[in-house]
Amino acid sequence: MSRAIYPGSFDPITNGHLDVIGRALKLFDDVIVAVAHNDEKQPLFSLEERLDLLRETAGKIDNVRVAEFEGLLVEFARAEGAGAVIRGLRAVSDFEFEFQMALMNRKLEASVETIFLMPTEEYTYLSSRIVKEIARLGGDVSAFVPACVAKALNRKFNR
Ligand code: ADP
Repeated sequence: MSRAIYPGSFDPITNGHLDVIGRALKLFDDVIVAVAHNDEKQPLFSLEERLDLLRETAGKIDNVRVAEFEGLLVEFARAEGAGAVIRGLRAVSDFEFEFQMALMNRKLEASVETIFLMPTEEYTYLSSRIVKEIARLGGDVSAFVPACVAKALNRKFNR
């Protein structure tokens, strides 16, 4: 069994994340979508809300499991028997941070490979941050996120 972990904040999950998950499933038998606890960012959605939205979307796809983890990603990968970490690359701006993380994770655990996947072109400009900004300003985000996420965003911003 080949298994990969797709870690992130998923605040909230977007169609870009789902595109990456679909690509990862072509390479691995199963994919664990994992929300990190120890996030220094101030999320819009609580951990439980983010997990619920993930379960309603990614969690419905065959061979995808939704999980949360605390501590080091490589420790979680080891505990789950995963040999790879999936990250999405949209633009050059993602590269520096991702490069640093991948090499640090390799230093910590040489047996785990980081694999970068590019989404379809129309999602290269999509991020959770921009979706939240559009929703906050009253814009329509239905083309960028699953329906339950659009609903949750509207609720957050009292629409
Ligand atoms: P993090 O806070 O760890 O960056 P995110 O939830 O923002 O978590 O993203 C998780 C991963 O998914 C990251 O590797 C990010 O680059 C990638 N990602 C986010 N949005 C997209 C997208 N539209 N297309 C491809 N990859 C994406």
